[in-house]
Amino acid sequence: MVTRRGFLAGSSAAIVAGAAPRMAWGRTEVDVAIIGAGLAGLNAARVCEAAGLTVVVLEAENRIGGRLHTLDDLPGKPDAGGIQIGAGYKRLHSIAGELGVVLSGDAGAGAGRVQTPGNLYSIGGKSSTASSWSDSLANRLSQEERDTEPASLLRRYARALPTWTEPQAWLDAPAELDISVEQALRSAGASGEARRLIATNFNGNDLASMSQLHLARSFAIFRSQPGPVSTIVGGSQRLPEAMAAALKADVRLGEKVTAIVEQPGGVILRLSDYTLSARQVVCTVPFAAMRHIPMQARLSPHMAKMIAQLPYTRASFAYIRAKTPFWESDPYPDTLWTDDPLIGRIFVLGSDPAMLKLWTTGAGADMLDRLPRREAERQIIARIESARPSAMGQLEVLRLYSWQRNPHARGIYHHIGTGMAADLANATRDADSLLHFAGEHLAVASSGMEGALESGEEAALRVLAQS
Ligand SMILES: Cc1cc2nc3c(=O)[nH]c(=O)nc-3n(C[C@H](O)[C@H](O)[C@H](O)COP(=O)(O)OP(=O)(O)OC[C@H]3O[C@@H](n4cnc5c(N)ncnc54)[C@H](O)[C@@H]3O)c2cc1C
Repeated sequence: MVTRRGFLAGSSAAIVAGAAPRMAWGRTEVDVAIIGAGLAGLNAARVCEAAGLTVVVLEAENRIGGRLHTLDDLPGKPDAGGIQIGAGYKRLHSIAGELGVVLSGDAGAGAGRVQTPGNLYSIGGKSSTASSWSDSLANRLSQEERDTEPASLLRRYARALPTWTEPQAWLDAPAELDISVEQALRSAGASGEARRLIATNFNGNDLASMSQLHLARSFAIFRSQPGPVSTIVGGSQRLPEAMAAALKADVRLGEKVTAIVEQPGGVILRLSDYTLSARQVVCTVPFAAMRHIPMQARLSPHMAKMIAQLPYTRASFAYIRAKTPFWESDPYPDTLWTDDPLIGRIFVLGSDPAMLKLWTTGAGADMLDRLPRREAERQIIARIESARPSAMGQLEVLRLYSWQRNPHARGIYHHIGTGMAADLANATRDADSLLHFAGEHLAVASSGMEGALESGEEAALRVLAQS
């Protein structure tokens, strides 16, 4: 257990020091102020409220849900954030059942048929499918690898990762295992071309900056909850909306916390035109956004380091309408999987309405974000048409969506950076403050939506322990 706490120095603290006189300690207005109306914040609010504490939830955006974000104004109401609910998401299933939020085993329109088997590959500008890949001229894999299709390469080498039966085993993993995915793949014998293809549509920014322990943890979580995935009927955002509606607490939208000062006996939050003093605070801001909030607080060295450095995956999307479901008129699988970083993968969201979603990460996402909107649309359409001729004349880009450009997220989710597992593990054990941190990034045994609920609950229990 790490309890030693240091004082966060640096520019953020300096900014707050200048602001401190105007943030003088006054009357405590609430027992608990919760920053963020995503799943972590709302679950923390539920637990605190059920224990009889007065709670206020402060949310910077003008909507509830954070990284559960249903784009209600687009055809089919696609989701921009989390979608898939694992069979082992016990908290989520229980809360949804209690609030009458309906889950469905059918991905449905708007959720994204990301599980559709097989891909149409466009590698080096040449098209192939699972059956033609091994003989494709674009296949530059080693002799032993060439029968493995690009999307399956990571799974092939995952056998070389540490195998855990307990999802929380990462907490005590030896430091010598905290090496990069790049190094782990090299040691497992992956060729340069295999590593290039894995990096192309990687669920991270690049192979060097993610620890292999992060992948090992994801696989352990996946193995621990076999069973079908489900989605939320009407869109993922319906769950946090129902959670907020069931609270007695004031959920204040459009209320951005701009500075945090921890003092003996309480915490002061600065908002745009007032300050709020709370006995305790639960802060669920993703660390990629948190590092931009001036803060004066006693933090453990591990927590301070993670706030400053924990990496988040950058991802950009495009929502694309088609005149007709053209993918039904050619003999290829629905999903287009490319090694073109600008378009990454193109998923079919549904046929009625006919909608597609582009998903690109890391450097590809940066590239897309840098293009002027019209040029991005032009390039996306031209590149899809070239990879899949049946798309010719069919496409219209309705929306570009970049999570890393959202100042309240700055990425889609965290990953354990190379060499960071011990610091993150110690940060999850911090417990002796009036300023508590929560969010998917601090979950121990689960990830994604369930991780957010888990960490919100844990933070609430720490609040109750000090009330
Ligand atoms: C593209 C994408 C796909 C995903 N896919 C899946 C999936 O299939 N399955 C799964 O389980 N999970 C998935 N996830 C992850 C899941 O959505 C998240 O783990 C979960 O929603 C995070 O909840 P949270 O409460 O920790 O954070 P958030 O939902 O980000 O909540 C934090 C809140 O804090 C607010 N905030 C930020 N700064 C301030 C401030 N200064 N003042 C006040 N409020 C502030 C934010 O606006 C936000 O509402 C996905 C996420 C993304 C983005």
